[in-house]
Amino acid sequence: MPIYEYICDDCQNEFEKIVINKQQEISCPKCASKKATIQLSVFSSATAGGSSKSFTPPSSGGRGCCGGGCGCH
Ligand SMILES: [Zn+2]
Repeated sequence: MPIYEYICDDCQNEFEKIVINKQQEISCPKCASKKATIQLSVFSSATAGGSSKSFTPPSSGGRGCCGGGCGCH
């Protein structure tokens, strides 16, 4: 269940709210204002650490560094 952190636009109060759907109306528990800015940085770090690109080592199939073109063999 996602818990989002908000900052009230009117009183700058920070509060957390369980949000079932994005259309859910949130209101500040302090001043009951319905204008609040969502803080998305709280939960983003949990999934951002995964590396999507897998490291593939260079296929050095016994051909040397340049394929024999540079005369380094
Ligand atoms: Zn408020």
